[in-house]
Amino acid sequence: MSEIQNINLHQANYSAPAKKSKKSKNKNKAQETQSQPKDKVELSGKKDKEVSQTEPQEKELRLSPFVENATEPVVTEFSINKLTRGKSGETTTINIIHTNDLHGKLTPGKGKGGMAYVGGKIEELKKENPNYLLADGGDISYAPPYSDRNRFNPMPEIMNDLGYHVMNAGNHEFQWEHKQYGGHTGNPNPDLIDNYKELTEALKFPMVCANAVDSKTGERPDYVTPYIIQKVGDINVGVIGVVTDELATQAHPQVGDGWKILNPADTMNKFIPEMKAKGADIIVGIAHDDLKANQNTIRNTHGIDIMLGGHDHQKTDVPISVKNADGQEVPLVEAGAYGAMVGKLEVEIDPSSKKIRNITSTLYPINSDSVKPDKEVESIIANWKGK
Ligand SMILES: [Zn+2]
Repeated sequence: MSEIQNINLHQANYSAPAKKSKKSKNKNKAQETQSQPKDKVELSGKKDKEVSQTEPQEKELRLSPFVENATEPVVTEFSINKLTRGKSGETTTINIIHTNDLHGKLTPGKGKGGMAYVGGKIEELKKENPNYLLADGGDISYAPPYSDRNRFNPMPEIMNDLGYHVMNAGNHEFQWEHKQYGGHTGNPNPDLIDNYKELTEALKFPMVCANAVDSKTGERPDYVTPYIIQKVGDINVGVIGVVTDELATQAHPQVGDGWKILNPADTMNKFIPEMKAKGADIIVGIAHDDLKANQNTIRNTHGIDIMLGGHDHQKTDVPISVKNADGQEVPLVEAGAYGAMVGKLEVEIDPSSKKIRNITSTLYPINSDSVKPDKEVESIIANWKGK
């Protein structure tokens, strides 16, 4: 907490990273050069075997080194001076609270994460600013100890309770019925598309995915929502999601059998004008792919203002700045995995032009000894354990 208090979050044109951030920049470099997303490792044959075991395998839930080392919040500021418009001093601030790759991790691992603690932090952050968007980057599914006993459950119940506005579909949201993942016998229907549909029905908020279409028809099934426009205070926030094409090509080809994954940048470029025409003031992209791929997506898009990441379980202490196809800087952020981090973006917007002036990014480590758990999520988890 002390670090947040020591930094003037709203200082105009602040560009030098905070002390902590400087150190973290090297980490980001390391992240960018990584070539093996964590998900690929998870989808190895070894993992398949683990999932088929009858007892929960708590020890298999490893955190990435970046996540394990997190002990205090990291606050950084991202200036977008080129977009500054209007009179100085007039600013509307909306917050974007973000998670990714929760993987059904209900209880803390090594004192970090756990959905009750994630929920506790989210409830705390919601109170900071009533004008917030609560979003998840995908892969809520597929992890012991409990979620794999009955596919994605009880994550929808938890996220409904926390009041998420939107989540992106991660690759794991598509693949539940595969026998290679341990034979999830609760559902006799082997149709992977129906499985995605069941998740959308369990969620009381939209799951977005713009670049997945039916592989046979080339059409987007009617239950797949490409984007939403969410009113946050006076700002219409457009949120569009894309998923990695590893879904169909990399891990287990059968997983993606029913789906064709279109190019993420082309897909976003197709929808963004439509979103703007429908009144979206700012566009938040959620790209469920590794940091390198997501940077590439930003480089080839027009109109994305902020990109939330996921899939490779990294955390961005400093938002990665990537120039889009129009030469504008777009921040890319990611909040670790397994609920070990919750992210918050304070987005300062000129109220007349609705252009973003400045963004402050904070990543909060979710340590069970310092974050107060959410009672309702605790009870959902307790009830679930008995099933
Ligand atoms: Zn993933």
